[in-house]
Amino acid sequence: MTNLDEELIELRREIHRRPELAGEERETAGLVAEQLRAAGLEVTTGVGGHGVLAVLDGSADGPTVAYRADMDAVDAQTNVLPFPRSSRVFDEGFASRVPGVAHLCGHDLHTAIGVGVARALAQGAEPVRGRLVFVFQPSEENLQGARAMQETGLVQRLAPREFYSLHCGPFPFGTIGVSPGYGLPGLDHFRIVLPGGNDAAAAALAAEVAQLGTVAFPKSIADYNARFHALLEPETAASVREFVCITQWTEQTPDAQNIPNGLLRVWPHERHPELRAQIQQLAAAAGGHVEFPGDPFPAMVNSAELSTAAGQYLTMALGPESVAWAKASWPFNCEDFALFLNEAPGAQFYLGVADAETGMNGAPHTPDFAADERAIGHGVRAMAGLLTHRLATRPAAGDSLRPGSKGAAR
Ligand SMILES: [Zn+2]
Repeated sequence: MTNLDEELIELRREIHRRPELAGEERETAGLVAEQLRAAGLEVTTGVGGHGVLAVLDGSADGPTVAYRADMDAVDAQTNVLPFPRSSRVFDEGFASRVPGVAHLCGHDLHTAIGVGVARALAQGAEPVRGRLVFVFQPSEENLQGARAMQETGLVQRLAPREFYSLHCGPFPFGTIGVSPGYGLPGLDHFRIVLPGGNDAAAAALAAEVAQLGTVAFPKSIADYNARFHALLEPETAASVREFVCITQWTEQTPDAQNIPNGLLRVWPHERHPELRAQIQQLAAAAGGHVEFPGDPFPAMVNSAELSTAAGQYLTMALGPESVAWAKASWPFNCEDFALFLNEAPGAQFYLGVADAETGMNGAPHTPDFAADERAIGHGVRAMAGLLTHRLATRPAAGDSLRPGSKGAAR
């Protein structure tokens, strides 16, 4: 373990100790900006809330590639799968000091890794042939931070050719997952309105809508892990290559009417209109209608071409056993990195943070989420290598990655 690895573990623990909810990442952003300025990067703070944007210019002219890390923590009461909690403690000495808030999605590691990549490359760990943009994003958990940063126009002005990020996942430490052409679903919200406050009809309709679902949320950590690993096997992945995932709850209105509400995740994203029409039809048949408060939030779709290229690079750099190839999307989480991938093609990777020996599950949004901190240094080296490799890769004439072509920044 290098000195930088140890300093990054310290940084991660500092952030872990004082987790900040979406929109409140003031102290985390402060730590990030301080370290990046000390490393000599050009830093802009307050970008779309507590977002931090940092630029590292290399030694020669070249393209611009962006890397994004998210900084916010999780509301441990409302945003965690309802698995039984074990009594094991993995963060002794640096546990959250904020009641009800915790880094149960690993964004503390993501932030430390982003800082680490910037620091390592600023120190010349690898030659930087072009420009790297580091995006430290607030408010990922409520899917608002990427949009808020984009609304400032600052990220687009830097016109990255490609965009990358990683997310902790329940693969063993030392493994990185790539998902060419796959990723994470978007999110659609519906509200069923039935006349007359007929609760029995509402319940019957909710049951019919539930029939449209093809996957149910995992029921235990073993189930969660099995389904994650199923993404790697051709046969089991084939069964979730397309999915409809519906969660429903009933809202009690002031006039005591029970209104079924739901969240809808589908793959591929193009199926949203079809699902809306199906729910609409069921509601109409029951004498009611459905309201959709807004457009579906977009799915995160990794570029098939760039994910494959990244997987090949990581295989070369780390060895074939270090790369896990996912053949379907994980149906149960959304990601607002989706919006950055709409700006420039790229990919999000799963950084394996699980460790069977110690029992750290590496499973985001579960009550016992714990991550092997050795993954921080591993993630830094993998991403520093990949980003500099991408800067040195010149797309051929006519290549879809040419700046100014579709997918590049507007
Ligand atoms: Zn997350």
